[in-house]
Amino acid sequence: MNNGLQDFITEPMIAYFSMEIGVKNDIPTYSGGLGILAGDTIKSAADLKLPMVAVTLISRKGYFTQEIDERGWQREKPVAWDPSQHMQLLPTRVKVQIEGRDVQVQAWVYLVKSPTGGRIPILFLDTDLAENTSADRGITDHLYGGDSAYRIKQEVVLGMGGVRMLHALDFHIKKYHMNEGHASFLSLELLLHFKRDIESVWDERSIWDIARVRDLCVFTTHTPVEAGHDKFPYPLVKQVLGEIIPFDVLKDLAGKDSLNMTLLALNLSKYINGVAKKHGEVSQHMFPGYHINAITNGVHTFTWTCPEIAALFNKYIPGWANEPELFVRSGNIPELELWEAHREAKRKLLDYVKETTGVSLDLNVLTIGFARRATAYKRPHLLFHDLDRLRAIARTGKVQVIYAGKAHPHDDNGKKLIQGIYGYGEKLSDTLPIVFLPGYNMDTALKLVSGVDVWLNTPLRPLEASGTSGMKAAHNGVVNFSVLDGWWIEGHIEGFTGWSIGCQSSAKDLSVTDAEDAADLYDKLQNTIIPKYYSADKSPWTRMMKNAISKNAYYFNSHRMMRRYVTEAYIR
Ligand SMILES: *Cc1c(COP(=O)(O)O)cnc(C)c1O
Repeated sequence: MNNGLQDFITEPMIAYFSMEIGVKNDIPTYSGGLGILAGDTIKSAADLKLPMVAVTLISRKGYFTQEIDERGWQREKPVAWDPSQHMQLLPTRVKVQIEGRDVQVQAWVYLVKSPTGGRIPILFLDTDLAENTSADRGITDHLYGGDSAYRIKQEVVLGMGGVRMLHALDFHIKKYHMNEGHASFLSLELLLHFKRDIESVWDERSIWDIARVRDLCVFTTHTPVEAGHDKFPYPLVKQVLGEIIPFDVLKDLAGKDSLNMTLLALNLSKYINGVAKKHGEVSQHMFPGYHINAITNGVHTFTWTCPEIAALFNKYIPGWANEPELFVRSGNIPELELWEAHREAKRKLLDYVKETTGVSLDLNVLTIGFARRATAYKRPHLLFHDLDRLRAIARTGKVQVIYAGKAHPHDDNGKKLIQGIYGYGEKLSDTLPIVFLPGYNMDTALKLVSGVDVWLNTPLRPLEASGTSGMKAAHNGVVNFSVLDGWWIEGHIEGFTGWSIGCQSSAKDLSVTDAEDAADLYDKLQNTIIPKYYSADKSPWTRMMKNAISKNAYYFNSHRMMRRYVTEAYIR
């Protein structure tokens, strides 16, 4: 078969399945953290020359491009992109059965190439074929669009279609890694594939080789938020999938009342992972009876270091990009040069802000950044809890804030949060400049995490499973100011790598009030962060920048994460 994949089928591979993959900005098949993590995972795997192939959906209409109207309301524009500009179409086709119809699936391949010589193919599955009905042609159009019928069809294409495509292409897979429950149908496909051929069995269930499938599967769960776990009512499952395996067997694996994709993955995976130590514990409580491990997330070091800081690393820490452990030597970077490189990155960000929003921010003013999906538990409004207090702080020591982030197109509450930020911007316009930068994506994310001075994160704990944007900030010497949740519990050393917000006691999780957290935020901003930033001696601040690199970037990178997946999950 001449499809360019010959080099990849000689060796057994890890198959990494993810509903979204964000590998670069102009392949818009990602919505946020989950997809970017998938992209970072694959890039590190390529750098480390791991035998891996990735599977996802083509998402021809992307997620969406965000625009904000004059009232501060989010508008979604479809993303137009052409897969043929970026990747190659394979001649191989497979089919899946949906509502009794055969749906044809094709795949595009994109090769992630590392300077080390490592290469990882990503297969983007696509149902837009003339043989399919027009509705079926659209199954792989919209990332996280449509109703549950649409979603379950997408997940059938991803999980079942993905395994069939890998088999059709002659890949030999030794582990299947499900990045979130969206891909769990791959385990059902494996059950069908390894069905025992026994003529007369005294126990009908013994034809399903559950142990064999479990041995092959690795599952990473990403959120303790209930809505993040896909559940499908059984009548819908029956309508879309039919009874491909007896429903009593399926219900044992995926839940009595509805088909829970997380439960299906939990029951059919030998290795289960949470995305930070705390999230491992929280997940263990959510899913008693399963053993939950915790390999903390990381980000791809080279991708998430801005050019100005990268030049400095090249000079003082050669080899850093493929060996982030070398950040242990960040002490060698001269403070003044680090400060100047950061100011260059900041200048670029402020120019970009001016260009896109018309607002001029001041290069010499302490700049706080906050960018994440607009949703209630992330509490983007915590900073505005007490406007009088905030005004008073901003009068004595100047501060400016840049916000960014998308709300899901169906999430009016998320859109109201964005609109709220516009409202606060107007109310505070006399003392504290606030800008909302529309169109959060990989490019603007890099500008933001490298160009602000402090990265703010205020989730309601313990709901931020890991968080990764703060790790990106640390790679650029930008210090974190964050609630102790997710990765920050592991990365935080008070006054050294950054600052915490609110109490540290996990017993008080969820019952901690906004007022308590906001009070601590204001105290530290006023009494610690502002004085340190504006001190005539820049050294204490730049030392913290270096600590962020040597303690946080050193550890919270996807090279470390992948090495641990290999030793703890993949070769077991
Ligand atoms: C890193 C990133 C995210 C995830 O950031 P969190 O801190 O985990 O919320 C989301 N969107 C984009 C564009 C990113 O680059």
